[in-house]
Parts: sequence; structure tokens; C-alpha cells
Amino acid sequence: LSASLSSAFKSLNADAKLTAENMKGPLRDVRRALLEADVSLPVVRRFIKKVEERALGLEVLEGVTPQVQFVKIVSDELVQLMGAEGSKDLNPGQPQVILMAGLQGVGKTTACGKLAAFLKKRRKSVLMVATDVYRPAAIDQLVKLGSKVDVPVFELGTAVSPVEIARQGVAKAKAEGIDVVIVDTAGRLQVDENLMAELQNIKAAVHPTDTLLVVDAMTGQEAASLVKTFNDQVDLSGAILTKMDGDSRGGAALSVREVSGKPIKFVGTGEKMDALEPFYPERMAQRILGMGDMLTLYEKAQEAIKEDEVAAFQKRLEADAFDFNDFLDQFKRMNNMGGLQMLKLMPGFSGVSEKQLYEVEKKLKRYEGMITSMTEEERANPQLLISSPSRRRRVAEGSGRSEQDVAELMGAFTQMKAQTSQMSKIMKLGQGGADAE
Ligand code: GDP
Ligand code: MG
Repeated sequence: LSASLSSAFKSLNADAKLTAENMKGPLRDVRRALLEADVSLPVVRRFIKKVEERALGLEVLEGVTPQVQFVKIVSDELVQLMGAEGSKDLNPGQPQVILMAGLQGVGKTTACGKLAAFLKKRRKSVLMVATDVYRPAAIDQLVKLGSKVDVPVFELGTAVSPVEIARQGVAKAKAEGIDVVIVDTAGRLQVDENLMAELQNIKAAVHPTDTLLVVDAMTGQEAASLVKTFNDQVDLSGAILTKMDGDSRGGAALSVREVSGKPIKFVGTGEKMDALEPFYPERMAQRILGMGDMLTLYEKAQEAIKEDEVAAFQKRLEADAFDFNDFLDQFKRMNNMGGLQMLKLMPGFSGVSEKQLYEVEKKLKRYEGMITSMTEEERANPQLLISSPSRRRRVAEGSGRSEQDVAELMGAFTQMKAQTSQMSKIMKLGQGGADAE
């Protein structure tokens, strides 16, 4: 989804409105992009049909090129598909009982630990239950994760049946007034009847408030049939998409939602215990689409940054007046343009991996938190912080960060100034390019 799509879009731009004829090329390219992102073929087919129908029934909007309209429909439909109905929140209960399901190695046990940490941060008491009795190491793994995140693990070794362990675990949680029970289960390499029967039995025994399918984002085309099987057999309430820190485009997300109608509730972005986030459909849509091409970027850049703003901004850079307010501004602008995914489209950034993007994004969020803790005066005059350790200490305390973090921000600030100057030049180029179309 790059060179070819941009040429298809260019031809689209010459026409006044979207027609079956002029959408053929762009639709073919979207289809290819989705397949490249490992969205299952039947899901792709239905999606393309929907986009086409919606585009054809559309009134032409004044002042909007068909190209922009087309891109918007595609990304709107993707967001709609992944986020429309269904709650992303965990279902209520006393206790809430969360049953984790999925194939082996997808990250179930890790997700148990991460979810426990996530809930604990939100002041819930949590108990994890180890029912993977087929591999002794699996119980140890959960126990270790439990001590890492400081959440107790209920286990009865490998001699008791998974159903009985789950039953006793949940009973214990009830007796002790624990808020959430997370039940880890065994997985197999393929979906098999034993695995399903065991899940069904555990489900019948403990009546989970949530049954979450854990899906590896790297799962290819087979995601659709996998989701269908699990949903048919154990009636899922949602899914957790793991390993999104890898380079996969995450097409499995679309398959999960389209096939089961159930929401993705969380996304796993690493092996560490804090690497779990709520699911954001917009972000996922952008990732699956690969965010179009440079043309899209230019369009978005045009919307987000007006020419006179660029000029004013550059003047500030030239006058060396760039401060923390400008940084916050840039941060917001970046979000308006589809976040850091956009970076990938820029010259020189095409080699950036998803993992790197996530790390940068996390870092920027940290920075944002610290800047928010600065006074107006400090934001406008970074020198105040550079020369005052006590100010830096106060910012650290205010934002719940270490002084080292603040020092890192100060260091990054200088670098950022240079980078932003570079970026605003690219923006300006982008605008020029789009105008010339
Ligand atoms: P299970 O068999 O489904 O319980 O899978 P595990 O929880 O044991 O995880 C299998 C492997 O995937 C382990 O090496 C985990 O560290 C790794 N893993 C789990 N979740 C993630 C994730 O979100 N990102 C990355 N990079 N690795 C993960
Ligand atoms: Mg496991």
C-alpha cells in the first residue's frame, strides 16, 4: 500500500465524484493492503463491498476531493467495524470472573499477569488461578508473574483437574471478597476437542463474567476460523490481541470483530507486565491500512496545519523561541494526524518498526505528563528548569516521575527543537506537493 495506491488515488483525484468505475483501482489496492495485513479473505470481501456501497450512495461534499472522501470512508468503516457495538470494558460481577482462552504460546499466561497488574492499579483486588496442569512449568510461570505484580495465585499442582481448580479458586475469591478472578487455562497448538471440552467445563463450573480469546496479532489468515470456532464453542465476550509491539499490521483485529461481533478489549504491547492497553479502534484502523500513502499524509497535514501556522511556527524556531508549549502543540497536532503511524510515511522514517513507534509514543506520553506539571512560566521559559534543580524536583513529584525522567525530558527538549525544525520543513513540502496536484 504505497506507490501503487498513490497512483490510483491520483487518478481518482482528477474526477469529480466517486463512481464504480473510478473506485476500481483504489478498491483493489485497499483489498491488497488488507490482505497484506493478514485480514482473512472473506472478511476483506465483505469489507470492500460495504465500502463500495457506502461510497456510491454518497453525496459529493463541496470542497472535498473524491480521494479524501474515499480514504475517509475506508478508515471510518474500519473504525466502525472494530469499535461500533459492544463494550470494551470488562463485564461487571461480584466477583468478576475472567476466563482466558486461546492457543498455546499466544500470550495467555502473560496476559493474565498484565491484566492483574492493570486491575490492581485501578484498586481492584485480584486472584489468579492456574489451571494449565499439562505443563508444570506453566503453573510456575503464573506464580512467578503473580509475585512480580504482587497478586496471589491459586494453584493445586498438576494432580487436580482444571475444572476443580477453577471451581475452588473462584469459591476462595468469593469467600474472601476478592473483586476479580483471572483464570489462566491451557492451550494447544491447534484447536482440538479436548481443549474445547475443558474450556466448556470450566465455563460451566465458574460462570465467567468475561471469556476472552487471547489472539496473537501475528496470526495470519486463519484468525477468522480460529475466532469462529472459539466463539461457537464457548461464546466469547471479547478478545485480547497480543504482541502488537511486533511488526504485524494487526489484521487479526478486524477478523476477530467481523467474525464474532465481539469487541477487542485489550491490546498487549510487550512482554513486560505494564505492556497492556485498552483497545483503540482508530489507532488500529490506521495501522491496518498502513495509513495510506504520502498523499493522505499531505491531505491530513493540510487539515491539521495551516500554512500561516507553519510560517509562524518557523519564525519561532528561527527566533529560538521554541518552548514546551510548542512541544505540547506539536504533540496534539501529531495525534490529529493519526499519531506516530504518520511518521512512517515520512522520508527517512520508513524503516521505523512498530515496536519503535510504540516506544516513542510511550515516551512522548511521559513527556506530556511532565510538561503538564510545569507552570505556565516554566513552559514558556525552559531555561528556568534547566537552571533550577528544585523546579525539576517539583515537576518530577507533580507528574509521578523521577528526577532522572525530568532530566531526560530536558535533554530530549534540545534535540526535539532540531527535529521539529526538520519536521516543519517536511510539512511545508507536503503542502506544496498537494497544492501542485
Ligand atoms: P500462553 O502459552 O498462551 O500462556 O503464552 P505465554 O503467556 O506463555 O507467552 C508466550 C510467549 O509470548 C512468552 O515468551 C511471552 O513473553 C510472549 N508474549 C506474550 N505477550 C506478548 C506481547 O504482547 N508482546 C511480546 N513481544 N511478547 C509477548
Ligand atoms: Mg500459558
